[in-house]
Amino acid sequence: MNKNGVLIISVEPGSLADQTGIQPGDRLLEINGEPVLDQLNYQFLISQRDVTKLVFQIPDGHIRKGKVENGGDGIGVDLAQDKVKVCRQNCVFCFILQMPKGFRKSLYLKDEDIRLSFLYGHFSTLSSSDDAELDRVIRERLSPIHVSVHATDPEVRVKIVGNKKEGDILRKVDRLLEGGVDMHTQVVVAPGLNDDWVWEKTVRELWERRAYQTEGPWAGKGGILSLSCVPVGLTAHREGLPEITGVGSGYAHAWAQRWTPVVRKFTKANGGEPWLLLADEWFTRAGLDVPGRNFYSSSWSQLENGVGMIRRFLEHTRGFLKRPMAMGFAGRKVLLLTGASFAPVLNDTLAQLNRRAGSHLRAAAVQNFSFGETVTVAGLLCGKDLKYAAEVDRKAHNNDPHWVDAIVIPSAALRIDTGPTDQYTVPGAERSQVPPMFLDDMTLAELSRDLGVPVVPSGENLAQLLGNLQPY
Ligand code: SF4
Repeated sequence: MNKNGVLIISVEPGSLADQTGIQPGDRLLEINGEPVLDQLNYQFLISQRDVTKLVFQIPDGHIRKGKVENGGDGIGVDLAQDKVKVCRQNCVFCFILQMPKGFRKSLYLKDEDIRLSFLYGHFSTLSSSDDAELDRVIRERLSPIHVSVHATDPEVRVKIVGNKKEGDILRKVDRLLEGGVDMHTQVVVAPGLNDDWVWEKTVRELWERRAYQTEGPWAGKGGILSLSCVPVGLTAHREGLPEITGVGSGYAHAWAQRWTPVVRKFTKANGGEPWLLLADEWFTRAGLDVPGRNFYSSSWSQLENGVGMIRRFLEHTRGFLKRPMAMGFAGRKVLLLTGASFAPVLNDTLAQLNRRAGSHLRAAAVQNFSFGETVTVAGLLCGKDLKYAAEVDRKAHNNDPHWVDAIVIPSAALRIDTGPTDQYTVPGAERSQVPPMFLDDMTLAELSRDLGVPVVPSGENLAQLLGNLQPY
């Protein structure tokens, strides 16, 4: 029996758990004779039978038993957050290893937890998952999951993940597919390491395993739902780490030109649903416009991985500008701070909005001094970099204290420190009890106080931004 079980943090009054005498502070040990491992495992076990046998432990150590007629539904308990599994690999381009020193501890946690891959779309190399864990994924039908393949060639993969035992990623992928698990996959492309023939081999071998095949060895099994490629991200903090060539604008341009037509071919062969995906950064680094809507999966399946974010923003903007709501920006004088890669697109959009609504919104690209100038994404901007950019902008306006009536920062740059890990903020989280903060611990309130101007998060689109600006 699993001696520890899972801590119950709350019990819904009148629920089956309440009627059984379960109280907050008890530990749920077993369901139908099986040890309860974590939240996901609880959900699986509780759904298996109409009548469920429970074993729980009260705080003084005594064991209690109960039986509930739950019809496969939950019994009305909230369980404690699962302990995050820590990664023991050393990937050559691991972002955590390239973080500047001095940030809060939770930002250095290398989590590689297949449960988070299922729940939140975090990518896992599967390097920390043994066969027993893969079998659990199959049994509990944790599908789809998100897998960082990086290279199917064993020798190259060993070089990338820094672990001799983790070259054969296809063995693990195949075990999961055989068990009916689908997956979204990604490759972080580093020039000279896993591009060229390595990338082509990876594409070919994953395409052979694509989802929804009706014939051949993979018919009726799990499948690869999508494969994205993302250019490697390097910071200015790589002391003591292997040398890696970055993706400059020329390389990104050549990559986008070479693979854009191939993406379209795969889409056609996949019945119209995009399967091969190119991250936005290929286009922004190359100075190219992002492709149209058809280039991206109908479900925006790898949006969180930076695939299609710009196109989706533009799509939303197009609709928004036609709505009367856009006039809510009339007369507003707002500075939007963002990463260098998104600033040109945002400025074009704001120019259209200003023409339509009579507003004065403009975007400024913020240089990332904390991570280095090669880091141009909005999500990694620190409070001090945003503050500096706003001060430079005010100086350029002759230190006029009323040069703007609000400053907007990217929501993606805010996190909520939950203790062991950080979480990205979700809409409404700005009003949560734990104040969201930037990577360098500065809060929105502190930035606003230092600048003497209201500072609001951008939200995901112009409608959300308008809502966030309304109180100011
Ligand atoms: S698996 Fe992820 S967290 Fe672990 S070293 Fe590789 S990139 Fe870093």
